[in-house]
Amino acid sequence: MRHPRLPRPRHLLTTRGNRSPMIRLLRLFIVLVAIVAAAAWLADHPGQLQLDWQGYRIESSIALLLLAGIALYALLRLPFWIYNRLRGTHGQLARQNNGITALTQGMTAIAAGDPDDARRFAARAERLLNGAPLALLMQAQAAQLRRDEGAARGYFQSMLAAPGTEFLGVRGLLAQAMRQGDMAYAGRLVDRAMSLQPKSPWLIRNKFEIECATGAWSQARETLGRAVQNKLITKAERTRRQAVLAYAEAAETFGKGDETQALVAAQTALKGAPDLIPAAILAARILAQSGKPDKAGKLIEKTWARSPHPDLATAYAALVPNETPAQRNVRTRRLISANPDHLESRLLGAETALAASETAHARELLKPLIGTEDSPDASPRASMLMAQLAQAQGLGPQEAQRWLARAPLATPDPAWQCQACGKQAPAWRISCLACGEFDSIQWRATGKTPSGEISQDAGLLAHLTPL
Ligand SMILES: [Zn+2]
Repeated sequence: MRHPRLPRPRHLLTTRGNRSPMIRLLRLFIVLVAIVAAAAWLADHPGQLQLDWQGYRIESSIALLLLAGIALYALLRLPFWIYNRLRGTHGQLARQNNGITALTQGMTAIAAGDPDDARRFAARAERLLNGAPLALLMQAQAAQLRRDEGAARGYFQSMLAAPGTEFLGVRGLLAQAMRQGDMAYAGRLVDRAMSLQPKSPWLIRNKFEIECATGAWSQARETLGRAVQNKLITKAERTRRQAVLAYAEAAETFGKGDETQALVAAQTALKGAPDLIPAAILAARILAQSGKPDKAGKLIEKTWARSPHPDLATAYAALVPNETPAQRNVRTRRLISANPDHLESRLLGAETALAASETAHARELLKPLIGTEDSPDASPRASMLMAQLAQAQGLGPQEAQRWLARAPLATPDPAWQCQACGKQAPAWRISCLACGEFDSIQWRATGKTPSGEISQDAGLLAHLTPL
């Protein structure tokens, strides 16, 4: 996207009658030269004047007469000059008062969302106040109100020229660029704004967001340091965020084919955030590919203990592709043993037990997930397993149908959900697609919280914010 630098509207930046000092100096110089030349000429051409009138005689030199003439002229002009001065001051005051009234009316129109009035009063304020900064800002806001982003950009760019309004101008352009997703331009603007206001929390947050969006991981890490210095985040939050950045870097490096570097970065991520599921899956995948499935298995088991997730179960199953259902059931028990009462552990255990025809064990695992006889409540995944169990135990198609019919009405299963805006996401992401919040996507129950003895993992809960 190109950003043409608009011609600076001169009337917005210069005040009337405020000529440049160079021009004034030049004018003074010309007048002085003229006076000196006239004096020199008079000295070279002296002359006497004699006036006889009604018995009076006036004798004078030409130079003295000229001087007396000028003095008389100045004396006669004095009352007019005083009158004009007073009138001018009064007029200026009246203009300023009217300008401030227009500003107030413009602000009211902006607050009320009335684009026509906002534009009218902003233009009036700008004219009366000779392009005062607040009037320019109001013009920009009025333009944004009528969705004229081009005009708003023009006003913000005009504000860049004056030191007093430069930051406001950059801030307006930056917010605009970020809204339009032009992160390259936003990056240049944020650096300029940081040079003016290095401690602005708003800027630090935006700088971090831009760096994440453009994959500038090392700069993003530096910005985290600045955020800690300015007390925007705690050191623990920085550790977590650095871990998430390390994972983002790992995923990018893996995409480029550098598995060794990707593994190092993924392991760094897990050190800072041991419950970061995608980092564990990536690290396990690289380990398995390089002939270390046992190490990969241990890593997944360790992560499951903190934050169980179906994707981890899938990755764990893939480590031994050709095993029998009975073998997988035995191996899965090892995975869930560190966190046996978690919802995900029970669902996974029941699933592999069912596949291995261990129906009694599957029923035992599912029991806390299906509510009571009087008020049955099982999530869609639990309902599906109950239906499969009914079939496996030969309880008849009606029993299976009963569970399947309940599924849509039941408590939803956990899902990836943004803890900032509440939107669900199909997969974990470094930042929410809907609201842009960093590291806000968490795997959690989306409806009623699971009741009974099902424990939620403390590691996962540490990053959850109450609804
Ligand atoms: Zn969100």
